Amino acid sequence: MNYERQPYRRCGRSGLLLPAVSLGLWHNFGGGKPLDSQRAIFHKALDLGITHFDIADRYGPPLGAAESAFGRLLPRSLRDEVVVTTKGSNPMWDGPYGMGNSRKHLLATLDRSLDRLGLDFVDIYYLHRDDDATPLEEQVATLDHMVRSGKVLYVGVSNFSPERTAQAARLLRDLGTPLLVHQPSYSLLNRGIEDALLGVLEEEGAGCVVYSPLAQGLLTDRYLDGIPADSRAAEGRFLTADRVTPQVLAFVRALAGVAESRGQSVAQLALAWALRDSRITSVLVGASSPEQLEANVAAVDRLDFTDDELAAIDRAAKE
Ligand code: NDP
Repeated sequence: MNYERQPYRRCGRSGLLLPAVSLGLWHNFGGGKPLDSQRAIFHKALDLGITHFDIADRYGPPLGAAESAFGRLLPRSLRDEVVVTTKGSNPMWDGPYGMGNSRKHLLATLDRSLDRLGLDFVDIYYLHRDDDATPLEEQVATLDHMVRSGKVLYVGVSNFSPERTAQAARLLRDLGTPLLVHQPSYSLLNRGIEDALLGVLEEEGAGCVVYSPLAQGLLTDRYLDGIPADSRAAEGRFLTADRVTPQVLAFVRALAGVAESRGQSVAQLALAWALRDSRITSVLVGASSPEQLEANVAAVDRLDFTDDELAAIDRAAKE
């Protein structure tokens, strides 16, 4: 582990520090990916000071494969040097108790996650999404119970609206288990959280760990000369080729000009841009190779922006 490579930022008003760039295991740690490649990306992460690994019960395929992979990769000697997260809510097994945010489903899926990870506890447990069929009181009481049972250290929500986040934070505070963090999508192609969510999180003292800051690879040079056979858009499961539009490519080309003058790649510019706001605790990147991960962490070498650069980026976004 190299703690010098990147800064660690406080998660809201909690005691927990997270690296500016964290690694997500949604892709690249499923059953179909070579074990050597998984191991190489994981070890590169440790070399780059990545102490924070984001997983979910569903990540694979098959379901649960990313948790099992991480359980095999993490040496027990490093347990106290890393923050391991997982999430529950999305469909995991058949029947009425296989999904959603009922106490019945969440406690069962957490136990299965811990089994696959080979851990006694996870550091952060997220509700992967809101479930309006389950009272919010039941959802947050389940999170509180997880902490009190010793299986979870901190709790968070993901993909919750600003209003429901504020309600969840208040209910959790009353129970004595603060909302540590929200995990929304945020990138130069998806700036919705700037409208209200970031304000709610600041007021509640919760951190913000953002996912898909590279818009799954669109905000890089990956697609400038077509769709590479080994890319996520070619795989087509979550990023489909029709999202590589002429408008997106024109935006990336415009960003390349700003990035070059800063001595950065487009991907580095996109990550530094997301981190420009101190309310963003960490960007959760994915990487299909150790080289991508290394290049992404180098974004921290240039996090400051001039007003002119920010204005040029905003102009490019509107074109
Ligand atoms: P990114 O936006 O960082 O996309 C990652 C993909 O972009 C990589 O797999 C790779 O694609 C490409 N890429 C990364 N770096 C580079 C580079 N330097 N140059 C060129 N291409 C690059 O993030 P993800 O969409 O993967 O999401 C990150 C994490 O966020 C997930 O692993 C997960 O933990 C979390 N997440 C949470 C969600 C939630 O609902 N809470 C939803 C989605 C994600 P390629 O394979 O083509 O090389």
